[in-house]
Amino acid sequence: MNLIFSDLVIRWYLSHKRELPWREISDPYKIWVSEIILQQTRIAQGLNYYLRFIERFPNIASLASASENEVLLQWQGLGYYSRARNMHSAAKEIMALHQGSFPTDYDGIRSLKGIGDYTAAAIASFAYNLPYAVLDGNVFRVLSRYFEIETPIDSTQGKKQFSELVNELLDKKKPALFNQGLMDLGATICLPSSPKCDECPLQDSCLSLAHNSQINYPVKEKKLKQRNRYFIYLVIVDPDNNYFLHRRDGKDIWQGLYEFPLVELSEPFSDPAQQTLIEKALSDEFSHITILNVKPSIKHVLSHQNIHAQFVEATGTYKNKHHSQYVKVPLHELSNYAISRLTEIYLENR
Ligand code: SF4
Repeated sequence: MNLIFSDLVIRWYLSHKRELPWREISDPYKIWVSEIILQQTRIAQGLNYYLRFIERFPNIASLASASENEVLLQWQGLGYYSRARNMHSAAKEIMALHQGSFPTDYDGIRSLKGIGDYTAAAIASFAYNLPYAVLDGNVFRVLSRYFEIETPIDSTQGKKQFSELVNELLDKKKPALFNQGLMDLGATICLPSSPKCDECPLQDSCLSLAHNSQINYPVKEKKLKQRNRYFIYLVIVDPDNNYFLHRRDGKDIWQGLYEFPLVELSEPFSDPAQQTLIEKALSDEFSHITILNVKPSIKHVLSHQNIHAQFVEATGTYKNKHHSQYVKVPLHELSNYAISRLTEIYLENR
């Protein structure tokens, strides 16, 4: 069974593969960058980011020696910024502990910050042709449909079962081709809502096609709950035309990115309460705040959160404190700071 399955997948891949700059190469650094970018990003969007990232940081040493702001600037708009921060830390670790050489075995790769089972298997198989099977969302979908597997893919038992199955199916002599083929099949043929079964190399033996049950797979246990958050950003301009930004820290979204002074509310905005709240929250660092314009609310959807953001344009005087949390930035220098996609959307539309 596994020989037939892997043969079908590999044969299909060889005649349908997409030409991409991180394919047909064995440089583990470039493969690593591409895998991290593509974790939560479609290929069409990820490709430009990959090309820009590799041009700016062509090797581990250049990434390790960059500042965090430079790395986040290259990542701006891609989201899930912890991916970039982890890659930056891992590059420094490789320079410090491995003399700049990327680890060459699965355990060494897996031990790097931000690299989980999936990414370690992808790098190990693509760069070194080591026999590790990858298990991403696309692979879960193909296997669960092909074998009509009822075990939820987000359960511990499901992860174990699928991992054993895919490693059993893996063609140990051609792990890179098998992995790429199975991932591509899921990404382009076995699509989530309308699989193109009539173009699929597995159509003669796929159980869910035979029973017309494709849409029931994969089975999932938990439904993600979206959390609503209410942000008011104050875009303050001082009398010398400077703006103010602060760098987000702590364990929250957009860690390390810059943004305008923020007041987070526990419920949706109500106009009369807004101004008092804002002034109170910012009175330690600013005075004479005058609100000029309240922009319409923007709903920004992240994987686990909906951010309802309102940008409030105002003038104000900065108190120039020694240990301020804000940096003063003239308008033409705003682009030197890595910002979230939400702030970028505001700047593009104001
Ligand atoms: Fe997916 Fe259809 Fe192929 Fe089965 S035949 S693996 S459901 S695309």
